[in-house]
Order: sequence, then C-alpha cells, then structure tokens
Amino acid sequence: MDRITITNLEVFAYHGVLKEENALGQKFLVSAELGTDITAAAKTDDIEKSINYASVCKSIDLFLKENTYHLIETTTERLAMHLLKTYDRIETIKVEIKKPWAPILMTLDTVSVIAERGWHKAYLGIGSNLGDKEANLREAIRLLNEDDDCRVERISTFLITEPVGGVEQDDFLNGALLVKTLKSPAELLILIGEIEKTLKRERIIHWGPRTIDLDILFYDDEVIQTKDLTIPHPELANRAFVLEPLAEIAPWVKHPIYGETVLQLRSKLKSI
Ligand code: AMP
Repeated sequence: MDRITITNLEVFAYHGVLKEENALGQKFLVSAELGTDITAAAKTDDIEKSINYASVCKSIDLFLKENTYHLIETTTERLAMHLLKTYDRIETIKVEIKKPWAPILMTLDTVSVIAERGWHKAYLGIGSNLGDKEANLREAIRLLNEDDDCRVERISTFLITEPVGGVEQDDFLNGALLVKTLKSPAELLILIGEIEKTLKRERIIHWGPRTIDLDILFYDDEVIQTKDLTIPHPELANRAFVLEPLAEIAPWVKHPIYGETVLQLRSKLKSI
C-alpha cells in the first residue's frame, strides 16, 4: 500500500505518569505512516482526493493537547484510532510517539512507543423471523453503523428463506453485510450481542424464532477458535441462507481454511 509519512512533528503536551509532567508539560515528537491508496490523487493532482498532511498535523497537535494520558502507550493507541476515524482515506496507520525529554534523571536519545492499527473487514450474516423482519434487519444495520468503530460498507439483498433445524416457525429474512471495523473479533462479538439484546432477540427455543440473529462469518482471513468465538463461522459452508447473500457481496472472498471462494462453496452446496 502507498504511504504518506510525517516525521517528528513537535507537539507540546502534558502526558505522563509524574505530576510534574502533567503540570509543566514537555515536547513530544510524533511520527505517522498513513497507509492509503494515492492513485486517484496522483492521477488527478487534486488534494481533495488525498489526505491533507497539514490537516493531519493540526489534528495530531489538537488531539494531544485536548486529551491527557498517563502512559504513552495509551496516548499512541488513542491517537492512532482517532486519526483512522477522522480521515476516511487512511486504511492503516503506524504512529510513533517519542519522548526525548523524559524526566528520568539520565541521558538517553529518546524513548518511544509505536502502534500499528488499521481497519478490518468483517462479513456478517444477519437474519430475522419475528415481527417486522425487514425493519429488524434495518435497525440492526443502523445500530452497527452508529458504533464509532464500525462502518457498514455493503449490504446484500434480503432473501426469504425457509427455517432450518426442525422447529415449526415462520420464514426468515436473511442477508449479509460487509463491515469495516476497528474492533477486534471479541469486541465485535460483544457489539453484535448488545444489538441482539437491544432488539430483544428471543432465545427461548434453540434454533427457534428470533427478532434478530447476527453472526460473524469472516474477519479478514483470520482463523479463530476460542470458548465464545469460532471464525470463520463453522456452519457457513453448510447454509444456503448464508452463502446466497454472501455470494452477492463477496463472491471471490476465499474461506481461509477450505481455500475455496464463496461462489465455489455455494455451488458445492447446490450440487449436494
Ligand atoms: P447463535 O444463537 O446460534 O447465533 O449463537 C450465538 C453464540 O455463538 C454466541 O453467544 C457466541 O458466543 C457463539 N459464537 C461462536 N462463533 C460465533 C460467530 N462466528 N459469530 C457469532 N457468534 C458466535
């Protein structure tokens, strides 16, 4: 990926564990590598299609002055996240904050913390078979988008599907979403749990009716197996109601374990 870099921007601020640091302040040196595609800006020679580094420098200065933290770890991570959220064109970021005048009564060149962060791509399955199903799906999408760390980038067509699992119940309305997120997989699971709770998902019967069901299908190309979370979703390849909408928004995305695209998985399922 292309990068725009800023090196050793001087910012006077008040971060530190010591009381003196919070009262007297000191100079920090901030460097940032902004991962972004510069092609459109380069082709058109138009600043509107790029990230204005003067604006980024001002934003760094303001953020570090308006917020005060004890640790440079916190300062660096929060600044990285702030810049990712403020500038749509930044896909990844590496921020280094140096503290060359750290008051440790010894001489050193500098001490610094580096944080590398970026947007992740998560594909979610979404379904409802209770109440106004389409309104439920739309409300869940709105709540996802409302979260500061998430941007819903693509929404599939919603499909009416028959329930699986043997419980007598109404048809489902199913879809798939592409969500750009700064959350870790575990944090994303917490968010979808909260959204399900807000929409009063019924959990009375296993496989039974639900106002909303949200599943993490893929998270980048990560493979995760913990007590609470399996990614890719273990049932993904067996469920037409997942693969059908997913194929519409992510036909060429490869399953990181099976090595097959969503289209291939869907055609395999159809031929069974
Ligand atoms: P379900 O009601 O079938 O959607 O199951 C929800 C539970 O499955 C949650 O409490 C999660 O802890 C667990 N789970 C495991 N992997 C996933 C995943 N990829 N997406 C959503 N929930 C998951």
